[in-house]
Amino acid sequence: MAETVPSAAELPAADPNLVDTLSDGTKVKQRVLRQRACNEKDGKGKICAGHLKRWYFFGEEIRQKYGKDAEIYRCERCKTLYLPNPNEEPRSGTLAF
Ligand SMILES: [Zn+2]
Repeated sequence: MAETVPSAAELPAADPNLVDTLSDGTKVKQRVLRQRACNEKDGKGKICAGHLKRWYFFGEEIRQKYGKDAEIYRCERCKTLYLPNPNEEPRSGTLAF
């Protein structure tokens, strides 16, 4: 079970909201406050602007990293995953700092 997962240091520096990249290459980003649309850029630098929808069908990798009840959103167009912004989560009792 020695899969080579690219570490953050090996990825091209870029998106400050990028949290993680899954072993299949799917990006995991954190939503900025009140973000409703995807801000991924394609190869030409055009914003994706796909709609972010709550997504429940994530696999084992996400379950292990973020928990089986993780709040995950997914872009309808480019399938980039988004984590909720902690500042947007009034019911959250587990702040990291
Ligand atoms: Zn997108």
